[in-house]
Amino acid sequence: MEALRAEHVSKSYGTGDTLVRALDDVSLSLQKGAVVALLGPSGSGKSTLIKAIGLVSLPEVGRVWMDGKLVLDAGIPIANVGALRRKYLGFVFQKANLIPFLTASQNVEIACEIGGHADPRRRALELLDYLGVGHRASALPATLSGGEQQRVAIARALANSPTLLLADEPTAALDKDRGRSVMELFARIAHEQKAAVLVVTHDHRTLDAFDVTYEMEDGRIKSA
Ligand code: ADP
Repeated sequence: MEALRAEHVSKSYGTGDTLVRALDDVSLSLQKGAVVALLGPSGSGKSTLIKAIGLVSLPEVGRVWMDGKLVLDAGIPIANVGALRRKYLGFVFQKANLIPFLTASQNVEIACEIGGHADPRRRALELLDYLGVGHRASALPATLSGGEQQRVAIARALANSPTLLLADEPTAALDKDRGRSVMELFARIAHEQKAAVLVVTHDHRTLDAFDVTYEMEDGRIKSA
């Protein structure tokens, strides 16, 4: 079962002499249960692809399906993008970006509330347990290690049980061992939650945690 299908997605920045084809007719299919690495040099289009698929910065053309449903047709969303994002997507960034004056569990709880969960507090605690940071539920972000903060951020991204989890260099701020354990966590999430996880990474040391590796070059997916 496909979590995501993207067909002929293109996006340019600028015009005339300054035109950059950041995404050049990209097609991509991600299966549920797969954890996929997206590699490529700086400027090759990785962030633009994540933002296009994440409905953050829409492509000019292309069709995108999530969980088998068409969500983007000729670059145009078929429903409110906020609602589509809440239904299908979770995001993890390089920095955890937790709200500093809320505890770990409150940070996750508000995401569960926004997602319309019946019992947001219980769901938040379950997610923190699942990510191995249940014992830090009442800690403020500043008292958590970098790896713990990132686990809380991943719990928050799972609040709405996304079909597709998008992560942009999630281990860049972590040391080798913590980076590896976060990548292994993504693999477990993909396999157990029946979601696809797409991770932009430069970290070649952790590539064995992935089921599939794609490489981008000049706005295209070069190799599988
Ligand atoms: P990566 O994530 O692989 O480093 P990006 O997707 O950020 O690559 O960038 C792809 C290309 O698009 C690059 O040539 C970059 O300079 C250009 N680009 C990205 N964002 C913008 C923007 N907001 N305005 C103009 N050009 C951009």
